[in-house]
Amino acid sequence: MALPAPAHAHRNTYWRDRTEKELLKQEFTTSEPELLAGMSEAAPPQGAIIVEFKYDLKGRKGTKSKARCVHCKFPNHYKGFVIKVSDGTRRMVGKDCGRKLYGAHFTDSMLDFDAAYKHAKLLKRRQRLIEAEPILTAGLARLSTHRSLAQFASMASRVRSVLGRQLIATLDGVAKRGDGLTYEEKVRDLAAEERASENLSPEHVAAMSKLNRADLKRYRKRHGLPDAERYTYIKRPIGPLRGIDLLHAQFMPADRLEQLAKELRNSIGALRLDQKWGKTSLALASKQLSELIGQIERQVEKLRAPIEFFDHAHLKAICAWVQHQPTGSPLECGVGWIGYLNEYDEPVHAQLVAGYEVPSTEFIAAFWAAVEQPDGEAA
Ligand SMILES: [Zn+2]
Repeated sequence: MALPAPAHAHRNTYWRDRTEKELLKQEFTTSEPELLAGMSEAAPPQGAIIVEFKYDLKGRKGTKSKARCVHCKFPNHYKGFVIKVSDGTRRMVGKDCGRKLYGAHFTDSMLDFDAAYKHAKLLKRRQRLIEAEPILTAGLARLSTHRSLAQFASMASRVRSVLGRQLIATLDGVAKRGDGLTYEEKVRDLAAEERASENLSPEHVAAMSKLNRADLKRYRKRHGLPDAERYTYIKRPIGPLRGIDLLHAQFMPADRLEQLAKELRNSIGALRLDQKWGKTSLALASKQLSELIGQIERQVEKLRAPIEFFDHAHLKAICAWVQHQPTGSPLECGVGWIGYLNEYDEPVHAQLVAGYEVPSTEFIAAFWAAVEQPDGEAA
């Protein structure tokens, strides 16, 4: 590794000048800084330096968890840097100690090093993403032919015809409010009645106290007084609304998954492009890929909806709720089914397909396991 000429200006571009190929091969951390060639404990010469490695020795066995710092002159830092100095030898320093020795030049070298380290991590991640693509491709191929996709579509169409468009629109509203299935109970509003009676003149109160119920009503009407009985509505809970995704027939998981698989192919295809990959474009491409995979997981999650919707307790709640709907035709439910009798007295039912199973997303976990570094560092 050649050192830059002793700097008149501070600008240190040693790392910035490395090619992608060099960055991919480069180690930026060391767990045994003492073993590097040319490591010295002597006072370093002034002049040009480069920050070469980072170390973090926390957890290293025995008393070796700290490295001897050339500035402090004893093992003082868990974390620090290996610097290469102007005569080509190396020194270990803590971050602040490096600054004390080399001032702004050290800060400059450290920034140069950090930027390259980040860039290299993203380049290595890009490589692993590309290498792990077959795991995704195979998993998505299995997913796209999984029988739950067709079963979901047929259950969704069935349940829509049983519930009807209007009930589904109302249920959509319930789902958006997020407060579950409820009904409104009409109850006397005693507080409002109390307030209304307080406004009556003593003459009215005296006259009305002698009247029976029917006469009282006539008296109130004749004198333009409000009704004595006031009502209000109280919201009563029935139960949570679940499996609403089954009712949204316009977004079938099968169609969305097909589209997402295509977008994913394009996204990885773009990553394969042989271009100069900067940190920003790498981070963006990698984020887009993660988001697409997240959307795939959400589609598989949607496939859970029939299991939740056709749960017996949930169906009972739906039937109870329908009874309180002004336009609802009565629905019946049994274990795993909901339906009604049509005009020919034939049962029209929607039910959970026997043996219905949500496909596994194990391949996505396997893909990430192959992409993420073994030390868990989000590269
Ligand atoms: Zn130090």
